[in-house]
Amino acid sequence: MLKKLFKSLRSPLRRAQHIRSTPEVLTDHQHSLSRGQLSRNAVSVVDRLQKAGYQAYLVGGCVRDLMLGITPKDFDVATSATPEQVRAEFRNARVIGRRFKLVHVHFGREIIEVATFRANHPEGDDEDDNLSSRNASGRILRDNVYGTLEDDAQRRDFTINALYYDSGTGRILDYAKGVHDIRNQLVRLIGNPEQRFLEDPVRMLRAIRFAAKLDFDIERHTAEPIERLAPMLRDIPAARLFDEVLKLFLAGQAERTFELLLDYDLFAPLFPAAAEALEDNPDYSYELISLALANTDERIAQGKPVTPAFLFAALLWPALPARVLAQQDRGLPPIPAMQEAAHELIAEQCRRIAIPKRFTLPIKEIWDMQERLPRRSGKRADLLLENPRFRAGYDFLLLRESAGEQTGGLGDWWTRYQEVSDSERREMIRNLGSREEGAAPRKRRRSGARRKPAGSAPAAE
Ligand code: ATP
Ligand code: MG
Repeated sequence: MLKKLFKSLRSPLRRAQHIRSTPEVLTDHQHSLSRGQLSRNAVSVVDRLQKAGYQAYLVGGCVRDLMLGITPKDFDVATSATPEQVRAEFRNARVIGRRFKLVHVHFGREIIEVATFRANHPEGDDEDDNLSSRNASGRILRDNVYGTLEDDAQRRDFTINALYYDSGTGRILDYAKGVHDIRNQLVRLIGNPEQRFLEDPVRMLRAIRFAAKLDFDIERHTAEPIERLAPMLRDIPAARLFDEVLKLFLAGQAERTFELLLDYDLFAPLFPAAAEALEDNPDYSYELISLALANTDERIAQGKPVTPAFLFAALLWPALPARVLAQQDRGLPPIPAMQEAAHELIAEQCRRIAIPKRFTLPIKEIWDMQERLPRRSGKRADLLLENPRFRAGYDFLLLRESAGEQTGGLGDWWTRYQEVSDSERREMIRNLGSREEGAAPRKRRRSGARRKPAGSAPAAE
């Protein structure tokens, strides 16, 4: 079906859309961007390449962000020079990438990324050809063809990302009406939206990312095919999706990003188990994830570090209780049941998004801590307090409570326990007496009554 769809899009007109062969040129006085806002190193790379006779421009996110008064994350340069020619101009340059070569020019800690103008690989008509640069649905598999400046503008994703700034003359070259879209706050794909999403489904996530980050709308024609094409994300390599998902949730607008992902049906292909939990237990799941993302945004706004492990722990948590219950039904006690369920859920998630071990381990520890925090008698509370993962586990407990989960005041207990003196701590432990949940769960359980695992919906209590 998709193959047919893609073929139907191959009209001669399609290619010309939105791209001009001569760019609109904004002189120094016609835009607000000034040389002083730029990284000196980026400017020196452009200068050097231009002096050596090449075309060179600042391009992409840095031009877009500066026009919007946002400090750019980094500065990218596009040039007519090949990677080898670029390297020959700089002592501090390194060619990276095998499939598509880029040059990193190092200035202390700052890296200026220099890319040679690229073209979209021409579509071969024969899709059975092993050398074809696209698969049957039109996805681009190889895009390592050099091209002209116009080609380079055309192969970029959004109009707002295809502005070229000549730091020598102060002029901006606009091939795709990007300045118009910046002024109107629109995320618009260059060319035919359906075809551009089929070429690279990750562009759907990028559309969400820029809409959230810049507080832009997704232009109508660009938005239209997204829900229909969302399932194509399932074919994207899990390692690439991990990078994209981190960028989505760590750009400071995670809560809005989550809303947009849900609106456009893009959340389920990324987090299938969590999406199911959102259907089964919507209020709690939605609240928990939203709160975690709002916390993340707040921390980023305050310049505090955020750990992706906490984020993933929250995104997946609503999917955990059903799996824990299944393990308990198999006869496992609570803690091993939790561990087994966690292992299973993370393995399942990693098939979609390749979360590296350095994050999956702390995710499991945060969850594990949720089963242990109610068990406080004897020396247990003090041992937990010494656990390097205590803080994350405790924060996670508070998050669950904020989302409406009933824990019998466990969060308050732990807050107080951290604040009081040793003797008061001993008093608190004594007062737990036999009330402590989980102290001897097996004996106290009424026959037939199943213990609810941590994270179950409060409504069912
Ligand atoms: P950010 O500020 O988040 O880094 P950015 O626009 O610089 O935003 P990058 O991912 O760094 O985004 O990509 C740099 C540029 O490369 C983009 O502005 C865009 O022109 C181009 N680009 C990146 N990914 C794609 C893609 N999947 N398809 C087409 N063009 C892309
Ligand atoms: Mg960038």
